Amino acid sequence: EKTPVTLLGLGAMGGALARAWLAAGHPLTVWNRTAARTGPLAAEGAVVAATAAEAVTANQLVVVCLLDDASVEEALADVELAGKDLVNLVTGTPGQARAWAERRGARYLDGGIMAVPPMIGVPAAGPYVFYSGSAELLADHRAALIAPADARFVGTDPGRAALYDVALLSAMYGMLAGVAHAFALVREEPVAPGELAPLLGGWLTAMTGSIDRTAAQLAVGDYTVGVVSTLAMQVAGQTTLLRTAEEQGVSTELLAPYFRLMERRLELGGGEEDLTGVIGLLLPRAG
Ligand code: NDP
Repeated sequence: EKTPVTLLGLGAMGGALARAWLAAGHPLTVWNRTAARTGPLAAEGAVVAATAAEAVTANQLVVVCLLDDASVEEALADVELAGKDLVNLVTGTPGQARAWAERRGARYLDGGIMAVPPMIGVPAAGPYVFYSGSAELLADHRAALIAPADARFVGTDPGRAALYDVALLSAMYGMLAGVAHAFALVREEPVAPGELAPLLGGWLTAMTGSIDRTAAQLAVGDYTVGVVSTLAMQVAGQTTLLRTAEEQGVSTELLAPYFRLMERRLELGGGEEDLTGVIGLLLPRAG
């Protein structure tokens, strides 16, 4: 007998989760603000609830996949959650997750989905969800929760999953900013974007080794350990990157803030270090 699941939210991600549960044979009750979105899922076997409250009443396990923290507040404002097992898969802040865990009488598990909808229910695509909060809830409903994507429990602090989720997403945006700048540099040249793409992908992949080096340097508090390219050399090299942008008529607004932090660290005497010293400059309260 498969655990019945209630799911609030049938957007791109909610729809993918719903189909994964139906495919795995879990009885499913769904609710969506815009009722029209529930039609196809009803045809595939889901029970459609008229209100969020009705959907919550239907099952012990209640999964929320709405747009953001504000939409969860709105949808669950007047819903009785006492005694329920609430799993919040909305991408939210750690503080919001902790606030949810402290409220109401429900057991609470917060999740951050590290996948896009086409990866859901496809184990080969490697989708997983960071979970934190109630370990008991995850243990009790593990079989249901891992049907759409694997589970990685990262601690009983309910905010930890959101923190890891946002850390990974933040790093991704740094990478995407660099990729945008790179494509802009060649945009006005007779260079096919498809020519640069595999070169960029290969280079960024090769550079990921620096992540472990940064962690090792932070762990010992010495940012010169294993340094390959010194900060002094890299700050000198900035001139070439900024001049090239100027020659190509490309704005430096994505690169400039990071370069300024590198310069500040150099001024503080970090010339022989790796780029790890920049991290402390982002934590002015700690410095
Ligand atoms: P969509 O924009 O496709 O869907 C949003 C859902 O939220 C819809 O069901 C919408 O209902 C509902 N909603 C929005 N505002 C309210 C509100 N005020 N009250 C009630 N319901 C509301 O988003 P996704 O499904 O893609 O994303 C859902 C969550 O999953 C987000 O937190 C997102 O960050 C996360 N996620 C998404 C990924 C992706 O690539 N799509 C990847 C990883 C995480 P309605 O149909 O009525 O508009």
